[in-house]
Amino acid sequence: MRSVTLSSGERVPALGIGTWRMGERRAARAEEIATLRLAIELGVTLVDTAEMYGDGKTEALVGEAIAGRRDEVFLVSKVYPHNATREGTGSACERSLQRLRTDRIDLYLLHWRGDVPLAETLEAFLTLQQQGKIRYFGVSNFDLADMQELWELPGARAVATDQVLYNLTRRSAESALMPWLGERHIPVMAYSPLEQGRLAQHRELIALARRDGMSPAQAALAWLLAHDDVIAIPKSGNRERLKENLGALDHALSPAQLRELDRLFPKPRRPQPLEML
Ligand code: NAP
Repeated sequence: MRSVTLSSGERVPALGIGTWRMGERRAARAEEIATLRLAIELGVTLVDTAEMYGDGKTEALVGEAIAGRRDEVFLVSKVYPHNATREGTGSACERSLQRLRTDRIDLYLLHWRGDVPLAETLEAFLTLQQQGKIRYFGVSNFDLADMQELWELPGARAVATDQVLYNLTRRSAESALMPWLGERHIPVMAYSPLEQGRLAQHRELIALARRDGMSPAQAALAWLLAHDDVIAIPKSGNRERLKENLGALDHALSPAQLRELDRLFPKPRRPQPLEML
């Protein structure tokens, strides 16, 4: 498995697995659990979840799937902005820990910026870190101005990632945010790397990928993995598609392929605000 280095020096897989919408349908549950277990076996050990997903049902499913293999997993979860107060963050984290059946979350993110002052959330993250309940903290859906504001707060420079919408069709993070993060060696975690599955249906991407012996999902992921310091977290609750996605690692894109993808999916000419889903 290719890895990305966090500012602490710890290495995490460049390809993880997302879990949004898992645990919501009874009929899909067994396959979702089997997929998460297979992911761990295959080295896709970074698992991204959130208290929001399925109102806690997703974390519960993740907890069941990783039971007995907790130490192999780099577990990422997120606190709702409205819970991210000085006391609320600790209580939300406790609830997540219970559902996840663990005593620690490896990386705990503020899901998006809300009305709670950042300093308060940060204080709560640092307390949780001292208590050993979280190992690292980070943010999600933060644009450059939010990151710059965070950066000036005491303790903030240990921020481990900014998880943002980033894929071939959503490149707004590239204009200002990613260079700023790159200078500070803060990896980006790319969510919805398959544009929620839509990239697998993209006609021109299908043609390009087929010609080069890939599936469109593999091409979309290989493009993300061609960037240093980008972690991609495609969600699949299906073992075959998980294996397909993992296959992206076997396709290092050539400069010519990257140029072709740039022509098909141009990066914005002017800086644009970060999009979110
Ligand atoms: P995504 O990973 O881009 O796409 C997931 C969809 O694509 C699912 O419907 C999945 O269906 C399908 N899929 C997966 N592999 C495929 C393949 N090889 N071929 C065709 N279809 C495939 O979208 P996402 O779930 O929105 O994003 C990934 C993760 O990022 C989430 O699960 C979540 O953990 C995180 N996220 C975070 C935020 C945030 O605000 N921080 C927002 C959105 C997402 P199957 O499951 O049936 O395979």
